[in-house]
Amino acid sequence: MTSAEHDDLRSQLGAYVLGALTPAENAEVQLHLITCAACAADVHAMRAPVDALALAVDPVDPPAAVRQRILSSIRASSSTAPRRTGRAFPSAWLAAAASVVLAIILGGYATQLRGRVQMLESQLREAITQLQTGERQMAQARLVAANAQRQLSVLAAPDVAHVDLKGQAAAPQASARALWSRSRGLLFAASNLPALPAGRTYQLWVISGKLPPISDAWIFKTDATGVVTTMFATPVTLPAPTAMAVTIEPDGGTPAPTGAMYLVGSLN
Ligand SMILES: [Zn+2]
Repeated sequence: MTSAEHDDLRSQLGAYVLGALTPAENAEVQLHLITCAACAADVHAMRAPVDALALAVDPVDPPAAVRQRILSSIRASSSTAPRRTGRAFPSAWLAAAASVVLAIILGGYATQLRGRVQMLESQLREAITQLQTGERQMAQARLVAANAQRQLSVLAAPDVAHVDLKGQAAAPQASARALWSRSRGLLFAASNLPALPAGRTYQLWVISGKLPPISDAWIFKTDATGVVTTMFATPVTLPAPTAMAVTIEPDGGTPAPTGAMYLVGSLN
């Protein structure tokens, strides 16, 4: 490399620091910097103030025309600069201009980054929502499974007692079965029960000999087809049932039966 060629290359260092060179020029400078300590020192000297200034400038996205104009003026200046500038290069104005251009480039990059971060945030929110939905469904499935487990445990209880209930005058088509285990509770299933009037509920009663009917707020409603399957917890001290009955009562249930009897059955 001749001295003139070297000076020419050296005059491009400012544009190199700004990232304003073509890829080919850029590669040429990079190759030269490996072997030339003087140029490497210049690049190092230019980078420090440029970086500091760039960090101090708020990132903004300038109009493309403004950005292009500044880039062109920097490149034109660097190509028409005197060939023999020696160690005085870079000039202060170039460093300042470099800082502005670099800030603009960084500003565009920051805008791009903000867009990307916003997109990632929205994807994250969506993923969290899906996760929460999945967890809710899982919790619901666990509840259903636990319920089925409890019902099965009554069916399989060694002390299980069966009561078949028959529809009465108010609901001749209705029928039900109750399975009761002192240790595991009461499983009740009914079908063909009439739709309830507003403000009314069905209530199950346990009859034990001559004691008044017992109900621990064992109330229930059917689905649209008059079907229900439900579990009731029963106290371990519950007197052994001899019969069971279902009446219609005000919402929330009553301590003693007041309404019409819909289902009645004796212990099998
Ligand atoms: Zn050099």
